[in-house]
Amino acid sequence: MKWKGRRASTQVEDARGRRVAGSSAGLITIVNMIVRMFGIKGIAVVAVLGFIGWQAGLIDPMALMGGGGQLQEVNSEATPEEDELFGFVTVVLADTEDIWTQEFNRLGRQYQKPGLVVFRDSYPTGCGTGDARMGPFYCPADRKIYIDLSFYDELERQFEAPGDFAQAYVIAHEVGHHVQNLLGISEQVSATRGQPDYNQNSVRLELQADFLAGVWANHNQRYLDGGDIEEAIRAANQIGDDAIQQRTQGRIVPHAFTHGTSEQRMRWFGRGQQSGRTEDGDTFDIPYEEL
Ligand SMILES: [Zn+2]
Repeated sequence: MKWKGRRASTQVEDARGRRVAGSSAGLITIVNMIVRMFGIKGIAVVAVLGFIGWQAGLIDPMALMGGGGQLQEVNSEATPEEDELFGFVTVVLADTEDIWTQEFNRLGRQYQKPGLVVFRDSYPTGCGTGDARMGPFYCPADRKIYIDLSFYDELERQFEAPGDFAQAYVIAHEVGHHVQNLLGISEQVSATRGQPDYNQNSVRLELQADFLAGVWANHNQRYLDGGDIEEAIRAANQIGDDAIQQRTQGRIVPHAFTHGTSEQRMRWFGRGQQSGRTEDGDTFDIPYEEL
């Protein structure tokens, strides 16, 4: 994909140097120490003294808990490769902004750009704490995409899906979820949570996000290099639920089998890429067995 020198999105937040300050780990260590030294009774004594101290304004329990989950700056050294990847992500996001603004205009709507947060390891989001092990994700509550760039190493090595267009497809899929959010589709699916067809709806939602990534690829053609579409299709193939579950033992899969099979993901991405029109990707209008 041709990306160097192209417009970078201003919606990207670099949170690689920010961590959640402390945790209750410090407090747990103190409690364990007291129990070891004075037994359970020690805790009671310390609790009473602590309460008095807190009432007197001498002790700040939030400070003891590690700053109450505030963010702190940490030393973050990025390799040149990582910085290049960061630059790439900002261009891909800008590219999705242009294409979806245009596509929404055609549909008589107005596109609102999503945010994108590049973080490391874990980060607080509008949808709870984001964990790099979950892979990139979109949070509808704060309309932001979250990605730890180390996922791209994993995509290349573990999932054997190398190439910049495979990486771009991952962003485009998450932007697809943002489009679904703006169109009110995500909300309809969340409303079925706890009902028997929720899992199927979730698969429909994921396949539609792949379709929407395909729509983006269709409009992006002038920037494509030979083999780019194959890279994206390969990625879609490698990160199908069936493929992931076969490969990753012990890895966090937040919702088991909710993305569709490899074959389905490739097919829906391909459909979007051929059509280029949002309205051709109604994955909710087809019997589940025929998806
Ligand atoms: Zn998804």
